[in-house]
Amino acid sequence: MTRVYNFSAGPAMLPQSILEHARDELLEYGGNGMSVMEVNHRGSSFAAIANHSRDTLRRLMAIPDDYKILFLHGPARTHFAAVPLNLAVDGARADYVDTGLWSKMAIEEAERLLEVNVVASSSEQNYTSIPPLSQWQLSDDAAYVHITPNETIGGVEFLDVPELGSRVLVGDMSSTILSRPIDVGKFGLIYAGAQKNMGIAGLTVVIVREDLLGRARPGIPSMLDYQVHAEADSLACTAPTFAWYLAALVLDWIDGQGGLEQMAVINKRKADKFYACIDSSNFYHNPVKADCRSWMNIPFTLPSDEMDEVFLRESAEQGLVGLKGHRYVGGMRASIYNAMPEEGVDQLIDFMDGFMQRHG
Ligand SMILES: *Cc1c(COP(=O)(O)O)cnc(C)c1O
Repeated sequence: MTRVYNFSAGPAMLPQSILEHARDELLEYGGNGMSVMEVNHRGSSFAAIANHSRDTLRRLMAIPDDYKILFLHGPARTHFAAVPLNLAVDGARADYVDTGLWSKMAIEEAERLLEVNVVASSSEQNYTSIPPLSQWQLSDDAAYVHITPNETIGGVEFLDVPELGSRVLVGDMSSTILSRPIDVGKFGLIYAGAQKNMGIAGLTVVIVREDLLGRARPGIPSMLDYQVHAEADSLACTAPTFAWYLAALVLDWIDGQGGLEQMAVINKRKADKFYACIDSSNFYHNPVKADCRSWMNIPFTLPSDEMDEVFLRESAEQGLVGLKGHRYVGGMRASIYNAMPEEGVDQLIDFMDGFMQRHG
């Protein structure tokens, strides 16, 4: 079997060493006579995984001591609703920045639960830029300000965390967490689905400042209440043990690569050479403004839509898959998360140079 380079936006590719590690201990984990999927989530064997992964994530991201780290079941999208339910009492409002389709979905979900003030939007630019902070129409009484630090579909990324002083900043970091160091202290709450940079689907990590717990609306379903999960060390329900175990392996792998400083060096190099390939051609095009181009998801178009099918077929023949763009943006998208080796990016660039020569 030859493994392909999977450029899909999510679920994303995993390091082969992690898959081999998981395979090797699939039947028996830690001398238990059973797999990690079968061990008790409250037993000592799983507690070691839980504690180790929490400590490693705290160290890698330099998460201050007054933040809780929750490993929760289910999709990131659950938190489009859980955030308003936890941080804003009835009648409150919240500020949202609209920078792409994921922001838009977060806004639409929040609007079911509270009054949303869209403080700035780049929808008129087709989501190819980030409105400057100086233009945000922040409200004085918002319970929090929500941003999507990396827009997975549009390929737009906040390369700096906005400075909002004492306002509570909330970030959906599903497609950028662990790609480079960030100042967690500037956020009140971060949430991220695991299936892009932290493992597999079925797990979402929430990092929340302790003073924001205990503010949930009366009547909140208990499994959506961050305080319930914080008090139970994320073991209030049967934990998503296998996804959590894989996240622990991914965190160790990142640690072994040299942590987030080193991930940033590699990720920036991968992204820079990929954008250079696009920009140096008159054939490929990426519409995003230079100061907010994503390091993780890079949409690009070919000179005509008719070429898309040919590009997809020929690239797949070279073992380069998952390149079809999101229907909203069209064209192609290369997602180059942490686990995409630089070699995979190099091969894609070689393929694209050749394709341009044959079809340009
Ligand atoms: C993938 C993604 C989501 C949705 O993740 P699910 O786990 O499928 O809910 C939300 N936000 C962003 C930015 C994403 O990239």
